[in-house]
Amino acid sequence: MNSSLLNEMSRRSFVKLLTAGGAAAMLHGGLLTPKAFAGPAKTAGGCKAFHSACQRNCYDTCAMLSYVDDGVLKYVEGDKQSTFTNGGLCVKGYSYPRRVYSPDRIKYPMKQIGRGTGNWKRISWEEAIDSICDKILSIKKEDGHLLGLALDKNSGSEGITNCAVIQGLFTGLGYTTRFEGSNCWPAGYDAQYFDFGDMVCNDPEDLANAGYIILWGVNPAWTSIHTMKFIYAAKERGAKVVCIDPVLTQTAAKCDEYLAPKMGTDGALALGMARHILDLGLADRGWVADNALGFPEFEQYLREKVTVQWAAEETGIPAETIARIAEEFAKAKPATIWIGYGLQRHTNGGRAVRSIDALVAMTGNVGKKGGGARYGQEFTWDFEYWPKSKMSPPAGSIGFVNPAKQKPGEPTVYSNRSLNRNQAAREMRKADPKIRMLWVSCSNPMSQYPNRNEMEKMYRGLDMLVVVDQFFTQTAELADIVLPTTTQFEEWQVNVSYWHYWLAINEQCIEPLFEAKPNTVISALVSKRMNELSPGSCTYQQDLTPKECMIRNFNDTIHKLNGISSWEDLLKGPVKAKRNPVSWAEGKFKTPSGKYEFLSAKAAEYGHPALPEYHSRRPNHDKFVVLTPHTKFGLHSQFINLDWMRDFNPEPCVYINPNSARSKNIVSGDMVRVYNKFGEVAVKAQVTDNVPEDTLLMYEAWFKNEKFNVQNVLDDAVADMGAYQFGGHRGPAIQEQFANVEKM
Ligand code: SF4
Repeated sequence: MNSSLLNEMSRRSFVKLLTAGGAAAMLHGGLLTPKAFAGPAKTAGGCKAFHSACQRNCYDTCAMLSYVDDGVLKYVEGDKQSTFTNGGLCVKGYSYPRRVYSPDRIKYPMKQIGRGTGNWKRISWEEAIDSICDKILSIKKEDGHLLGLALDKNSGSEGITNCAVIQGLFTGLGYTTRFEGSNCWPAGYDAQYFDFGDMVCNDPEDLANAGYIILWGVNPAWTSIHTMKFIYAAKERGAKVVCIDPVLTQTAAKCDEYLAPKMGTDGALALGMARHILDLGLADRGWVADNALGFPEFEQYLREKVTVQWAAEETGIPAETIARIAEEFAKAKPATIWIGYGLQRHTNGGRAVRSIDALVAMTGNVGKKGGGARYGQEFTWDFEYWPKSKMSPPAGSIGFVNPAKQKPGEPTVYSNRSLNRNQAAREMRKADPKIRMLWVSCSNPMSQYPNRNEMEKMYRGLDMLVVVDQFFTQTAELADIVLPTTTQFEEWQVNVSYWHYWLAINEQCIEPLFEAKPNTVISALVSKRMNELSPGSCTYQQDLTPKECMIRNFNDTIHKLNGISSWEDLLKGPVKAKRNPVSWAEGKFKTPSGKYEFLSAKAAEYGHPALPEYHSRRPNHDKFVVLTPHTKFGLHSQFINLDWMRDFNPEPCVYINPNSARSKNIVSGDMVRVYNKFGEVAVKAQVTDNVPEDTLLMYEAWFKNEKFNVQNVLDDAVADMGAYQFGGHRGPAIQEQFANVEKM
């Protein structure tokens, strides 16, 4: 297939997009809107338009339109019917056709002769599914159960069906081992549960109503470009916008003021601000008296343990700056803080989020238009998550026995065995019974999980590794069998966001390419063959089409919430949920007390201080702090391998401050070795003032044909929180890492 024919949006227009002022690459709105498309008509410039939704694990979860001519996806754009997406996509979104028609797509089921050898052989779907089912049945026969069969399904595709289907298959097989927990937001998630009793926040479109905005450890100019327009709208109306981040990001460059605390001291900064607000008499005592529990204890803690001067010493930010920002924040009404996910990926990260929440609550900014402590929302929209929620293991299945849940004298209660994906290598090493077979779907653990060298050892010890993907990722390279799966354009999905309130359908708009199949079909094939080989061995459905699987996720609650009468209404475009854009407006919290809890007994029950106290992060085990945030050219390990992205982001690098570089005799362009006791990364240096002197910054990424992997130097330390809402699995401390650097 000639790829030059495939995209209405040419490489030249993509280049223009990227170079139009640099930042314009990430702006919403209009830049590549097809001129001929004028409204809800289904044709545009000879193309048929389909409603799509970006499936990536991204705040923005864009509603899209995909234009198809003669069965070929020509180009995509943001859907104007969503006031959040507003007609624009990010650079990743615009590059989707390059992803769909990439020559690097996995085209057929493949078998590797010798793990990691690269000696791949094309096999038929029948042979692939036979090998998989034979192995599952042999594990069951030899072990008497399926705990030696593990699933790692992560967030590579966030479509509701993809979020549920593989788990449904595994439940249909029996009790298995699951890698669970989240490497995204668990510590902050728990923190918000302790404080509010749930994790919801104001509609991001409501940011436009704020009088003062603190962007705390978040870089929306790269990671949530569509939210930026609401921040700009607030600025136009007179709001001050402050960015707090150890790195001078593109977002920081757009703000009115930028503060760079030392890494891992965000909690101290929040508490120092809180103490100053108390001293000025600016706490909203009326709001806390009516709506909060434990403010007197919090006040006492602040008065006894916290001073602005102490906060200045901890954070490296001058005391007068802390005091001034605190006063401005407390006086501006409404004021809001957007809390990013990096600052909670620390050994004290959950406490930091609780301290920031407290700052918002004590100033009476909770439950207010333009206010709030915004972290995200885990409002599940009551989707069925079918079939995950509906499958049962075959009768007589034997599984894991959790002593905490087993009551003496009562029948044995079996369940899946749950392992923390944030310590996957450690968990695999100690697993008894041993994990013998692993199925990886929507995930690239070898590029995303810490302690990579240990991970590889564990993966190499498996009897069988099955990877379902679109590309030969670093995980797929270790597989015995890879199964090609479809992109969003080749399958049906429905999407909601963990940030905004829009619901969008994703129509299948082209036929699956080569021999790729949706996860729904792959699961049905496995179930069918399992039952042929061993009747009754899998309860997963075998007959529904991918579209029928998607439809099964809807119910009357979803219809009512979104003002639709059936899923088909979404074929006319995305809809916004009929929810109050202001969270906690009624002052009814979901905590045990029904109030906002400065003092949380639930936190104490999980081994944390009941108050949002500050504890220092763990000490450095090497000279430099290592930060590994997201690049604008990719999302985790996705997109970076595409040709258009590589034109602008051709190779990885480590960013280093000029003073540090000088001390190590390093100049931009030198190859350097970033190393610690866990491993090393060979990478080119870029010298920049944008990172602090004690910091090395590498964007996490998967580059095709590159050995570069930031996980080589990241250990599997965990954050303080996450165990409450994530089945005992604490979050990762992946932004609290250390290494050294030397010129090669
Ligand atoms: S990656 Fe995010 S911003 Fe980009 S198109 Fe997808 S949802 Fe939109």
